Amino acid sequence: MTLNQAIELLYSLNVGVTPLAEGTPHERPHKPVLLLAVFDLLDLGHATTDRIPWSQELRDLFSSRFLVVRKHNDKNSPDLPFRYLAGDGIWEAIEGDGITPVRREIRVSDMGHVFGRFKSGFEVVAVDFENRNRLRDAIISRYFPWAADSLRSVSLIPSTESNKTPTISDGPPDSGRSPAFRRSIIEIYDHQCAACGLRIRLPVGNDISFIDAAHLIPFAVSRNDHPTNGLALCKNHHWAMDRNLIAPSPDFRWMASPILDGRRSNGERELSELSGKALLLPKDQAFLPDTAGLNWRLERLLAPEF
Ligand SMILES: [Zn+2]
Repeated sequence: MTLNQAIELLYSLNVGVTPLAEGTPHERPHKPVLLLAVFDLLDLGHATTDRIPWSQELRDLFSSRFLVVRKHNDKNSPDLPFRYLAGDGIWEAIEGDGITPVRREIRVSDMGHVFGRFKSGFEVVAVDFENRNRLRDAIISRYFPWAADSLRSVSLIPSTESNKTPTISDGPPDSGRSPAFRRSIIEIYDHQCAACGLRIRLPVGNDISFIDAAHLIPFAVSRNDHPTNGLALCKNHHWAMDRNLIAPSPDFRWMASPILDGRRSNGERELSELSGKALLLPKDQAFLPDTAGLNWRLERLLAPEF
């Protein structure tokens, strides 16, 4: 497993989404928070990637992060991700005999008897301090971009990214998260352009797609890879949005720049006819585009020059 593959796995954790009955749906924070806590435990040298004790220290590291990112009635229950992260293929919870996978509720009284370990090559990636910083940054950008500063301030050893000014470059340090963001957006939008509805899905694998994952507020500005900061767009509409010729508005409708002149070309006519049309959005309300991102785009829509 490479670092990039590890980041892709972290971007698509099966975290679960809260039901409508519990308020506005959101992704459950438990698994990503547990991973942040485990990385800190590794930084402290109080665990190794093949033996992460179910301990009071881990529970405390979990709680201090959980309280920063919890929404509505999320329950502060580190035992759940400690057990269920096993379903994501990179982790297993093991009984004290060192062999038997935990297949039961994990209790406070199991401290000292139960431990977790990374597997499938993730343990090799996570053993490296710099890699852990990358993984930590990826988790924060994907799941908790709004709480980045608070999470880094509770982190015992600050991440390498924390003191850096974000750069425009999308070079090697970010090369793992970019395909990971694309994959999650394309899946959430079911390979469909949010402007024209174009859907081209080839049967030879998900990597070949005409659909792009566009950030609403660019990553270099926001460091936000949460799906609510993204839109699936075909190449044409991605190009047009990035040049501020079209913009999504907070009422989930498209706006076209008045500088477009349909008499000049069919292309301009097609773009201006998008005005007022509804965005084609994911069914899952937890992933609807965020108002701040929509406003960011709308504010930049090209105005006519006088
Ligand atoms: Zn399109």
